[in-house]
Amino acid sequence: MTAPLIDPFQRAISYLRVSVTDRCDFRCVYCMAENMTFLPKKDLLTLEELDRMCSTFVRMGVEKLRITGGEPLVRRDILTFFNAMSRHLDSGALKELTLTTNGSQLERFAKDLFAAGVRRINVSLDTLDEEKFARVTRWGRLPQVLRGLDAAQAAGLKIKINAVALKGFNEDELFSLAQFCAERDMDLTWIEVMPMGDLGNEDRVGQYWSLKDVRARLAQQFTLRDLPESTGGPARYVRLEESSQKIGFITPLSHNFCESCNRVRMTCTGELYMCLGQEDMADLRPALRNHPKDDAPLEAAIRAAIGLKPQGHDFDYSRQRADGQVSRHMSHTGG
Ligand code: SAM
Ligand code: SF4
Repeated sequence: MTAPLIDPFQRAISYLRVSVTDRCDFRCVYCMAENMTFLPKKDLLTLEELDRMCSTFVRMGVEKLRITGGEPLVRRDILTFFNAMSRHLDSGALKELTLTTNGSQLERFAKDLFAAGVRRINVSLDTLDEEKFARVTRWGRLPQVLRGLDAAQAAGLKIKINAVALKGFNEDELFSLAQFCAERDMDLTWIEVMPMGDLGNEDRVGQYWSLKDVRARLAQQFTLRDLPESTGGPARYVRLEESSQKIGFITPLSHNFCESCNRVRMTCTGELYMCLGQEDMADLRPALRNHPKDDAPLEAAIRAAIGLKPQGHDFDYSRQRADGQVSRHMSHTGG
């Protein structure tokens, strides 16, 4: 173990999110344009390089690793990578290995993910209506995702559903989604739509449905009990007293959570983003590729990057514009 990673604001960095591919089998309207140009395969870190990167972060104090994308389960041979990371769980250095997925490939992978040591997963699901699901994901099919959820639960994986709150789209599903999750013993987290990427004609301000409103509407039917702050995460949680369902809110816009940020994000090409809402990044790939047998330059590059972690993001819709917008797509950094 080397000295822990501490940023300039005295936040310890113990959580790494890694986007292992920019590709996806869906084209969600808030995430991707209909016709995306993806990175050439040669630009991607190989699975061995991803292993070396992640293992270096683990050695430097990262205890939680979340694999994301694009859709992580469409990366070829991704199980090899999960299986390799499980050695850090076995050694105790890594406390949690997890992923965020659209659920489309879970039927195929759930058992093997559990065998690799994954215990909890996040699945993104914005609607339970087949036609609306096809519309918001453009390419997705709801029944396939629902079968994926079943397979994951049968394999023993605990599921949290993430739903993006979209005005005029899933407002009417606030209670049905909560009930669906309660019946299946899944937590549910609502996410405010963020101004990421240039998606052509998408109307970001029009899509934005404040979670303050989501919460107020829930409170009309349920008694909400605030749960204590989670450590470092952006979500705030409540429990619905009547159903004991736990519901989270990720509110980058109506509530700023940066002061407790413990995470950084790496793209599939080895760029390290110190903040989801800022353009600054450090390219770790040269330190990795130019020194195939020596991790010291990579460690130094990581430490230097953490030394530049900004205090927070600048997203703001309050002037009826998507201020603070960043140009890259969410699929680049993995959300
Ligand atoms: N493909 C996987 C999935 O959908 O779960 C993992 C990657 S996806 C980029 C990660 C998360 O980012 C998803 O929950 C998705 O809903 C969310 N997301 C994508 N674009 C977003 C945006 N503009 N604002 C808020 N959340 C967004
Ligand atoms: Fe793919 Fe996830 Fe983006 Fe949807 S949100 S397009 S599933 S990466």
